[in-house]
Amino acid sequence: MSATNEYRLVFPKDKLKYKHILYGGDSFTWGEGLELYIDSPFWINERNNHNEWTELESKQTDESYSFRNKNRFPGVIESITSYKQIVDSLNGGDYQSSTDIINYNLNENTVAIVYQFTSIDRNFLHSTIECECDFCRDVKPKPFNVYLEYIDRILNNQKISDWMQSKIDYLEKYENIKKFSISDLEKSGLDFGMYIDSLFNPSRLKNIDYLIEHNIKKWKTTNKVYLIDSWCHETSRRYIHSNPYLVDLLIPLKGYDGKWYKSYPEWEHTFPHSRIMYQYPNTVNGHPTPIQHQYLADSIIAAMEKDGIPTSKKLQ
Ligand SMILES: [Zn+2]
Repeated sequence: MSATNEYRLVFPKDKLKYKHILYGGDSFTWGEGLELYIDSPFWINERNNHNEWTELESKQTDESYSFRNKNRFPGVIESITSYKQIVDSLNGGDYQSSTDIINYNLNENTVAIVYQFTSIDRNFLHSTIECECDFCRDVKPKPFNVYLEYIDRILNNQKISDWMQSKIDYLEKYENIKKFSISDLEKSGLDFGMYIDSLFNPSRLKNIDYLIEHNIKKWKTTNKVYLIDSWCHETSRRYIHSNPYLVDLLIPLKGYDGKWYKSYPEWEHTFPHSRIMYQYPNTVNGHPTPIQHQYLADSIIAAMEKDGIPTSKKLQ
């Protein structure tokens, strides 16, 4: 395992001696922004301030961590079922960290695996930081980030470093991801996001296949696997809902309207506030609210009950 990721797996390992659920995901799973719902003068005031993670990180206290642990959906499930929540100790996540937390902690006490999709942009070119090809080795860049930075430099007439040029050349030569040009974008008739996606589509489909073959299918040999759709509209629509294998494993999410949704983007819009920022606009925090975490927990519990996994403390 690379040192770039090892630090994420640090948490009290004694939890693994108890029945637990492994949760892979990102800041949506981790519960970013929930501390804004603590009813103390400090946090009530913070609802008026810009509070994305860059601003929130330095304001964390024992109280905010413990509030998050209780109120994020893995914590709500823990309090109802007693199954310990095994969640990445750090906020955020990509396809490597979200699968590592599961692969490195899966044991005989694992009751279920819940995997919440992040954005497809957060994948490594060849899906894993273990890859040592000329693109992936050393700093382990994510192709989408390199490509966006490249475009930004071109549009601003900035110098392209040799390192960046070599990565962009690699993408064109080995992954058929053409170098960005305004004229190609215009010729495509697509908007910017869809044009970039059309270039990256074949490699992203390979990323999804890798996730299924190297992770999900392996997890399914020992445990029930519950997938939660991505909050990213394009990832949801183009990479998850277009894949029957994944759609089958997506759990229905209980909406605020009482209906059930496999699409996260459709589900979140049933709530009075689809993200924290729509309740507290100054925060600009684009994460789920406490009530959404509760509904996610209810949805997972419903899915486990359907599979006969005991969810009441006295049945275990
Ligand atoms: Zn590679």
